[in-house]
Amino acid sequence: MKPIEIKNLKFGYNKERLVLDNINLSFEPNTITSVLGPNGSGKTTMLKLILGLIKPADGEIFVFGTELKQIPLKERAKLLAYVPQKHNAVFDYKVIDVCAMGRAAYSGVFSSVSKKDLEIAMQSLEKMRISHLADKPYTQISGGEQQMVLIARALAQQAKILILDEPVTGLDYGNQIRLLKTLRDLSNEGITCIKTTHYPEHALWTSGHAVFMRKGKVLASGNTSEIVNSDNLRAIYDTEIVVLQRPIDENSVSTCVPLF
Ligand code: ADP
Repeated sequence: MKPIEIKNLKFGYNKERLVLDNINLSFEPNTITSVLGPNGSGKTTMLKLILGLIKPADGEIFVFGTELKQIPLKERAKLLAYVPQKHNAVFDYKVIDVCAMGRAAYSGVFSSVSKKDLEIAMQSLEKMRISHLADKPYTQISGGEQQMVLIARALAQQAKILILDEPVTGLDYGNQIRLLKTLRDLSNEGITCIKTTHYPEHALWTSGHAVFMRKGKVLASGNTSEIVNSDNLRAIYDTEIVVLQRPIDENSVSTCVPLF
């Protein structure tokens, strides 16, 4: 069963203009799917619709075969975890407490965070290699570190589907690569990852699937190795980019190089 299936999806923030126009897509289980497209092509809007944060004008979204609107909110939180693009910290919670908020779907409305929840939160911080930040105030760590905490919070949620909106933004190069490796490990462990990205080479490095969007429509979708090619990159970014493939040790490594 597909983790997410989107059928004939239409959406507009106002009546005059459709931001998403008849999207039909399915996402593969235990796979990383990279959603690429220029600014304003509708990537974030599509993620918000999948999360149920906004409602379609038309069409359906199915999560593991059940229509999203039939799934109670608490159950949705066990299926879908979200790492948003921007997050303005208001309260001075400790990092471990921010991470433990990912456990909300598992506790009662009035119950406090259990020892088990804190253990799971700590494991998530360890997975992101930031357990040393556990007792620091969230507002007093760097933007990149906050991003890593939000990803740890999503991991603590233990959802089957992880949705990340430009997750590498603000991360240094090492943390970008570590994040991509973590996503690859998670997909090997049975988590479906859907991420938007401005880096087609990141889609190649994590292999899996890619979706190319332009002006609210899906231009192409399928295996990353087939979809990420010069023709599609030119069509969405209006610039010349070559895809290079080189054998390194026993592996074949691909990357994108823009022509200046
Ligand atoms: P992307 O993530 O690909 O950059 P978005 O989904 O954020 O694109 O935006 C798609 C279109 O919807 C853009 O034209 C954007 O201006 C518009 N849009 C996004 N959010 C809103 C909003 N809250 N109200 C009105 N228009 C919006």
